[in-house]
Amino acid sequence: MSNVIIAVHGGVGKEYTGNVLDRAVDEGFSILKSNGSSLDAVIKSVTILEDDPDFNAGTGSNMRLDGSIEMDAAIATSNGMYGAVAAIQHVKNPVIVARKVAEDTEHVMIVGTGATIFARKEGFMDYDVSTEKARLRYKDAIKQLNESSKHKYMKKFLDTVGAVALDTNGMYSAATSTGGISYMLKGRVGDTPIFGAGIYTNKNGALVATGIGELIIKKLLTKTIYDDINLGDDPDTVIKRHINEFTKDIAVGVLLIYNGNVHNLSNQPMSIRVRSDSF
Ligand code: ASP
Repeated sequence: MSNVIIAVHGGVGKEYTGNVLDRAVDEGFSILKSNGSSLDAVIKSVTILEDDPDFNAGTGSNMRLDGSIEMDAAIATSNGMYGAVAAIQHVKNPVIVARKVAEDTEHVMIVGTGATIFARKEGFMDYDVSTEKARLRYKDAIKQLNESSKHKYMKKFLDTVGAVALDTNGMYSAATSTGGISYMLKGRVGDTPIFGAGIYTNKNGALVATGIGELIIKKLLTKTIYDDINLGDDPDTVIKRHINEFTKDIAVGVLLIYNGNVHNLSNQPMSIRVRSDSF
């Protein structure tokens, strides 16, 4: 008997009430049900969310303090594949470019102008991901910065996306994509594309994180959680211990599949959809 499972999230910080998360998880799930790979499934799900302007990934990504949009994305599998792009501009689906990094180069991550040039070489057209939502958020960020002399993270505008899945061959995959936090400097890279921080896969599972990336990186959150669980600790207890290390005002959430089961926890609302089947 085979188990297939996929779980998709729309970022930490607010409850998502639309139906695009359902469509994203359903389309990824139908790939798994027809014996497709978990990598194809998570990329399908994340691509759908990147294309929806409600999410801060691909179309709808946040603007940086200079008004530009730079995006981060990654894919990873339990078979040892990992590819990422950071601060990439003007592409519709950064997560597909991340896959190309893993498949078509010997590198694991390409950043900035190099990432955009790589995407063009791979045939990705110039695409404007800016939206009215991003322009309004940008205006708000500038206003808040002007009103406060102290630099601090804004605790909203996250809605990054991620997915984890297990396929009929027992392979785990994860995919992530984000337009970053608001506010942020040009060139800033968060946890989303970084292996062991915002994304991690290993023999027994796949993990993604969302929240304020700087702190997720410092804690190597997804790898630390995996390692603790893999030592035999109860997954939910481990996740709780690590999420509790973040103060409540610093949004953070994790979603993972370990040994065929989904686990998740966040310190602020986080929308998640799960589909699974045995056959
Ligand atoms: N983790 C992302 C970042 O720091 C933001 C998010 O999860 O919404 O770029």
